[in-house]
Amino acid sequence: MTGNEIRKRFLDYFEKHHHRVVRSSSLVPRDDPTLLFTNAGMVQFKRIFMGEEKRDYNRAVTSQKCVRAGGKHNDLENVGYTARHHTFFEMLGNFSFGDYFKEKAVEFAWDLLTNGYGLPAERLWASVYTDDDEAYDLWHKAIGIPAERMVRLGKEDNFWAMGDTGPCGPCSEVHIDRGEAYGCGRPDCGVDCECDRFLEIWNLVFMQYYQDESGNMTPLPKPSIDTGMGLERLAAVLQQVDTNFETDLLRPIIAHSEQLSAKPFGREKAVDVAMKVIADHSRAAAFLINDGVLPSNEGRGYVLRRIMRRAIRYGRNIGLERPFLHRTVETVFDIMRPAYPELSEAAPFIRNVVLNEEQRFMETLDTGLRLLNDSLADLKAKGANEIPGELIFKLYDTFGFPVDIVQDVVRDTGMGVDLKGFESHMQAQRERSRAKVSFDTLGEAYKALAAQAVKAEFTGYNTLSMQSHVLLL
Ligand code: ATP
Ligand code: MG
Ligand code: MG
Ligand code: MG
Repeated sequence: MTGNEIRKRFLDYFEKHHHRVVRSSSLVPRDDPTLLFTNAGMVQFKRIFMGEEKRDYNRAVTSQKCVRAGGKHNDLENVGYTARHHTFFEMLGNFSFGDYFKEKAVEFAWDLLTNGYGLPAERLWASVYTDDDEAYDLWHKAIGIPAERMVRLGKEDNFWAMGDTGPCGPCSEVHIDRGEAYGCGRPDCGVDCECDRFLEIWNLVFMQYYQDESGNMTPLPKPSIDTGMGLERLAAVLQQVDTNFETDLLRPIIAHSEQLSAKPFGREKAVDVAMKVIADHSRAAAFLINDGVLPSNEGRGYVLRRIMRRAIRYGRNIGLERPFLHRTVETVFDIMRPAYPELSEAAPFIRNVVLNEEQRFMETLDTGLRLLNDSLADLKAKGANEIPGELIFKLYDTFGFPVDIVQDVVRDTGMGVDLKGFESHMQAQRERSRAKVSFDTLGEAYKALAAQAVKAEFTGYNTLSMQSHVLLL
C-alpha cells in the first residue's frame, strides 16, 4: 500500500463512521503566538475542545501537517539517527468533540489497524496510564489483548495536557513489536525502550478532566477524544521496511541524493544519516515555505533556517558542495502533489527561496567548517574534552553557524559543548548591540535634526526627554 493509499484509507474509514473529513490546517498556527508550529492534529480544534467554539459536526478526521522542531516538542536532533522521527510529518487523527469516548475510540483503532490495514493482532501492544483501569479493561477484556502485551506507563508518556490549565487526560498508545532483530537485546527492553523494536504508532488521548489554576482536576461533563498516528511510521510497518525513510513517502528523495552524490544508500552509516537528514529537511523546508515561513534570524524563520542549514551541512558529508536542496525539494513536490495540489503553484517560489538560502550559506560554510575542524584537532591534541563557548560564539557570529551544527559535528568525537559559555557570549553581544543601536539611531536622528535646522526649541529639555523625543523621530 502506498503512502497516499494509507492516508486515504484512514480518512475513508472514519468518514464511513460519520466523521467530517477536515483539511489539514497550516503549519503556522492561527491566532496562537504561544505555539511555534502545528505539532499535532488537535491544534486546529483547540477552541472546540475548550468549549469556546462550536461547529456543525462533533466527529472529525484529518491528516495534519506537523512540524516538531524548536519549541516544546523538538525532534530536530533525532532526525537522521532514529528510524521514526521527522521534523515534518503527517499525523492521522480522529476526533470526538463530546461525542464518543474511550470505548468507541479503542474499538475504531483496533478495527482499523487489524481489519483495515491487516496488521497482525499478535504483534500489537497497548499501553495505558498508570491507574486507567477503564482503558486497561477495554484493551484487555473487550478487545482481547493478553496481559503480557499490556503495559502501564506514567505521566511522561501517557498523560496529556493542553497547557497548565484546560482539558487534559490519560492516553493510551498502540505499539507494534517489530521483532527481536530490531531490538537492543537488553533484558529490560520493552515498549518504553528507545530502540527500534517496539514502535509507537498511535496515541489515543482521552480528554476527560479540566485542570484549574491550582492544579485541581475535575471531570469534564462531555469528555472528548483526540488521536494521532504518524503516517510515515504506519507506512514503514505496512511496507515492511526498517525505517520511515525507506517508505515511498521519503525513499525517492534519498534516491535523488544518491544520484546527486553518486553514493549508495544503505552501506555506510554516515552516508545514510546525511541522506535521511536531507530527505527529511527537504520536506520540512518545502512545507514550511509553502505555509508562508521564510528563513530569517528569529522565531519561526530561524527554525526554518536551522533546518535548511543542517541539511546543507550534512550534504557536505556526502560531497554535495554546490547547492542541491532546491533540487531535492523538487522530488518532495512530485511525491506530495497528489495530496497537496497547492504545491504545484508554489513550487517555483519555494525553489527560489531554498536556492537563495543555499547560496548565502555555502559561501561561509567552508571557511567555518575548516576553522571548526582545525580547532577540534588542536583541542584534541591539548587533551581538552569540551568545545569552548567562545569558539561556538565566534562560529555563530562570524559564519552564521547555528549551535546545532557545531553539536552535530562534534557528536561522534566524544567531546562536550560548552553551551553555558556560548550563552554568556551571546548575552554580552546582545547588550553590546543594544547600546550600539541606540547610539547609531541617536546619531542619525541628530543629523536629521540638523538638516531640518531645528535648534533652539530643544535647549530647555533635559537629556532624557531630549533623547526619547529624538528617538521618536
Ligand atoms: P515518540 O515517543 O516516538 O517520540 P511521541 O509520543 O512524542 O512519539 P505523540 O506526541 O504521541 O508522539 O504523537 C502521536 C503520534 O505521532 C506518534 O504515536 C507517532 O506515530 C507520530 N509522531 C510523533 N512524533 C513524530 C515525529 N517526530 N516524526 C514522525 N512521527 C511522529
Ligand atoms: Mg516524541
Ligand atoms: Mg511516545
Ligand atoms: Mg505518544
